[in-house]
Amino acid sequence: MQDIGRGQGVYISTYGCQMNVNDTERMYALLEMANYVPVESPEKAGLIIINSCSVREKPVHKVHSEVGRYRALKAVNPALKIGVGGCVAQQEKAKLLADIPLLDFVFGTDAIDALPQLVADVTETRQRRVSARFENEKPYETETLIRNPGVSAFVNIMKGCDNFCTFCVVPFTRGRERSRGLAELVADVNALVRRGVKEVTLLGQNVNSYRSGCGADFGELLKTLAEDTDVQRIRYTTSHPKDFNQELVDISRECRAKIMDYIHLPVQSGNTDVLKRMNRGYSREEYLDKVRMIRDGIPGVVLSTDIIVGFPGETEDQFRDTLSLVREVGYDNIFPFAYSPRPFTKAAKFTDQVPDADKSRRLQELIDLQREISFDLAKDFDGRELEVLVERYKAEENHLMGRSTQNKIVHFHPPEPGAGAEGFVGRTVKVKVLKAFPNVLRGELLP
Ligand code: SF4
Repeated sequence: MQDIGRGQGVYISTYGCQMNVNDTERMYALLEMANYVPVESPEKAGLIIINSCSVREKPVHKVHSEVGRYRALKAVNPALKIGVGGCVAQQEKAKLLADIPLLDFVFGTDAIDALPQLVADVTETRQRRVSARFENEKPYETETLIRNPGVSAFVNIMKGCDNFCTFCVVPFTRGRERSRGLAELVADVNALVRRGVKEVTLLGQNVNSYRSGCGADFGELLKTLAEDTDVQRIRYTTSHPKDFNQELVDISRECRAKIMDYIHLPVQSGNTDVLKRMNRGYSREEYLDKVRMIRDGIPGVVLSTDIIVGFPGETEDQFRDTLSLVREVGYDNIFPFAYSPRPFTKAAKFTDQVPDADKSRRLQELIDLQREISFDLAKDFDGRELEVLVERYKAEENHLMGRSTQNKIVHFHPPEPGAGAEGFVGRTVKVKVLKAFPNVLRGELLP
């Protein structure tokens, strides 16, 4: 790789979802290969990148204000290059460059692999650049690039989404669905295992739509990774309820030693009419049927979900349906959001927007309800013995931190503090839960 960075610092600020966090890791890895050195503060950098997110509120405004904070740095160091990537870059393209004179380049979600070249181009020509074309026809081949993998790693298996939920900007910022090849993924996971990774989380906007060039679906991918790689644990996110089928449940049960019993199954609303307006492709009853199918097939499985309150037109009664569904399912955890319009989406044009005050009140009511549910469910873990993959040792507190198969965070003390304790990182151990809190379990190591 060309020496583009000449040892200069690169700083990337990251917004948004796990996909973006993973993209940032990829950018750092590519830029390191081009002789940039990751630094912890923008003051030390010769290259600053904002990896933006469109899901938050006022995303474009956030990019403007962050770039504005670097004005003084650019005044001191005119050679400093500032770029914006991620979903806002994909959405705004040249407009972002035109609106923010301080910016040197804008690159879309499909342009990450060419980032070092783009930076070289901007540096050599002293011209500002935009690179935000979707490569919808190109096969999606992208080896997982991680600088220092820990116990657990994320692996992109597909990208984009064809579902066009009426509230969601992803199909516009990540393009159409494309999946990686099965053999490529097996090789990728094996390479991570050789570097010490014990657990992979398969990432995609809609993993259940995975379809390899040879026709393998998501269930076959899971089975192949469970049987043909030495990875110890497999997780995945995000699932779409309409595509979650019995075959996937059966494979999860058959390969239970490796496929973890935790499923994130976004419902978004508990009311069928709202779901229809969201274009989710299932009714309340169909969603609940899927939950029953999953629970019958994988006893003890833990569920979490995403919920939007205050979607346009949502009445008080329809919101009550969401509360009742949350009670009925009993999620261990939910990720609740108040609806806010996103560019290009159908719902942004709906005329029956819900007042902000109602959205905030509904959000709070949902959070309060879930707090009670999480607290009650956590108590079920009291006294249980769990298999925990140890991720970290915190010397200051002399405790080990790991995750159970149900994705519960577990803290416990090692038998002896110090160097011996570090040796537990990466091992799977048995822990008895002494006290369960909604977000964390405290336990003791079993022999
Ligand atoms: S399935 Fe998920 S990513 Fe796709 S449009 Fe719907 S919410 Fe967005």
